[in-house]
Amino acid sequence: MTANRKWKRKVRAHAARTGQSYTAALRFLRSSEEAHMRSYTTTTAGLTDIGTVRTSNEDHLLSDGDLFVVADGMGGTGRGELASRLAAETVRAEFGHNRTADALVNAVRTANRAVRDLGAGPDGSMGSDRPFGTTIAAVAMVSERDREEVVSVNVGDSRVYLRRDGRLQLLSRDHSVVGDLVRAGSIEEADAVDHPERHILTQAIGTAEAVTPHVEVVRPASGDRLLLCSDGLFNDLPVAEINRLLDIGDPDEAAGGLISAAVAAGGRDNITALVVDIRAI
Ligand code: MG
Repeated sequence: MTANRKWKRKVRAHAARTGQSYTAALRFLRSSEEAHMRSYTTTTAGLTDIGTVRTSNEDHLLSDGDLFVVADGMGGTGRGELASRLAAETVRAEFGHNRTADALVNAVRTANRAVRDLGAGPDGSMGSDRPFGTTIAAVAMVSERDREEVVSVNVGDSRVYLRRDGRLQLLSRDHSVVGDLVRAGSIEEADAVDHPERHILTQAIGTAEAVTPHVEVVRPASGDRLLLCSDGLFNDLPVAEINRLLDIGDPDEAAGGLISAAVAAGGRDNITALVVDIRAI
């Protein structure tokens, strides 16, 4: 296959994966190619809020060097908090200093086993019929074949967005009933937030023997801003509003603005926002 055909195939695949037009995918990939850089720094701010309805916060966020994680636990009565913290800390421990995309995927798989083992407990249950588990969205700056890349790995419906040139691109994939319906074109994105089945996940960490994480790898560009968030953010705020609020100040101000707006919009769930700015050195 010629280099040109390979390139066109890559653009078509990216367009299909992200739902963008061919032209938009071409523009994005070109900007990624041109943005190749040898060094970068990241500036991060993360906030989590219980919201206005829930009695506990089962979200967990973690930022350690160039590793960033948001997890949204489920299980109630303290179990969801345990699941989200265990998953995030397992990813941190397993990923360590490996700094490759495969290492991050393997760390997420290990987190699945850790949460599943804990949920099973010594007698095969944690004493509740409610599902025990968590979503996970993990992002790391890695080094592959001598070039730096951003790798996004997710299971469940916590999201990773990349903001570049004023546009938001979703790097994660929602593993949810509603996410499947949106991708199939059965419902509109705008109708998903009030859909009665919006909380039903098709994959989560700790609820099955194995997981198939969604993986996206992009080359960073100086000026990129990443957002990792739980569903409490995007179920209460339209994506256009999230994009507008991400156009503000430093990561601290952006994360604060997002959380305040989601609380003001209802705060029906725990809300977590982790903002990461990437700058060339
Ligand atoms: Mg949630």
